[in-house]
Amino acid sequence: MAGPGLYTQIPFCSSKCTFCNFSSRVSPSTVFDNYCASVVKEMDCLPTNLRGAGASDNIYTLPIDTVYFGGGTPPILGIERLQAIAESIRRTFAAAASREFTIEVTPGSLSPDSLTALRKLGVDRLSIGAQSFVDQELASVGRLHSARDTMELAASARRASFDNISLDLIAGLPHQTQASWQESLDAAERLRPEHLSVYIFEIDEKSRLGSELLKHGSLVHANDVPDEAFAADAYEVAREFLKARGYCQYEISNFALPGRESLHNLKYWRLEPYLGLGAGAHSFDGAHRWSNTISPSEYAAKLALGETPIADFRKVSRDELIEEFFFTGLRQADGVDLSSAARRWSATDIGRWQPVIEGLAARGLLERCGNSVRLADSAYIISNEVFQEFLP
Ligand code: SF4
Repeated sequence: MAGPGLYTQIPFCSSKCTFCNFSSRVSPSTVFDNYCASVVKEMDCLPTNLRGAGASDNIYTLPIDTVYFGGGTPPILGIERLQAIAESIRRTFAAAASREFTIEVTPGSLSPDSLTALRKLGVDRLSIGAQSFVDQELASVGRLHSARDTMELAASARRASFDNISLDLIAGLPHQTQASWQESLDAAERLRPEHLSVYIFEIDEKSRLGSELLKHGSLVHANDVPDEAFAADAYEVAREFLKARGYCQYEISNFALPGRESLHNLKYWRLEPYLGLGAGAHSFDGAHRWSNTISPSEYAAKLALGETPIADFRKVSRDELIEEFFFTGLRQADGVDLSSAARRWSATDIGRWQPVIEGLAARGLLERCGNSVRLADSAYIISNEVFQEFLP
């Protein structure tokens, strides 16, 4: 089994972006010490909690392959608390040899000194939530930073010897036009990040902007959101633009210079194991999925009482795993290897999906390449329709 990825959730932000559907929240800094101590305590109690839930603690003993601090805005905790968590990870797991240590950062949330301190902690990859390089778009969704802040952060990160930087961009933000989208792509590319993630704004009731759009309201710049066709075009423009500049699209939303794919995120799409720490964090050991209670205060309270923070734990059936194999595997440009899938499960199990694969291939949505099947180039923008076919 490949070594697991280790994810630590820091669910706090300075403000809530209107498009955000994550479980992040704005909390007073007085809760940070307790949260940090709770994450450390969760590590100490992991073997007991895993056995108590019904999982093997094998995953706990394997060398950690990748480390990821996500959120939320992890730097909001401050360097000392992040250091305490990183040191606890090093004490608890065989993490010294991890191949990648990423932290998600928001422009304006880190000083040059903090970047140097992160480097000393072993962080070697920054994932910067740029979202746009147009100030009007940033302000309209409640971002607290400007395009200049992003450029300054990237420049400071280079000076602090970060040679693995990822930038996030979102297509379909309020006020976005073809010209402003191109402006963001140009500005992002000028920084020559090793990796870019391009997301399409999703209308989801869990975000303020999404729920406003669903009720046809006009608050939070809902009237200024371009239509779905615009976002789809913007996505295709980004694909072409980045491909022409040497970025390989290795996943539906992710582009990398050669060899700079996100090793941690690849684990999710390859059904490899990962452990999640912190409120709302998810874990997978190859046979079970579980997640912690979402509320940071409840999470901390449970650990303080010596209780497990695991709120949901379930065995994943063989059929579900195979569905997930197609569902997540087809997100990757390489697609899925049917021969290795047949070895992992059985030829009969995989053969059951043959009619679905052939039907999608006949419609031009999937293509065969040797023993692999992958999403056709023209199907990227409607990938969800393809994935639905792999649900029971
Ligand atoms: S900074 Fe990120 S996690 Fe926080 S509210 Fe904005 S999008 Fe959500």
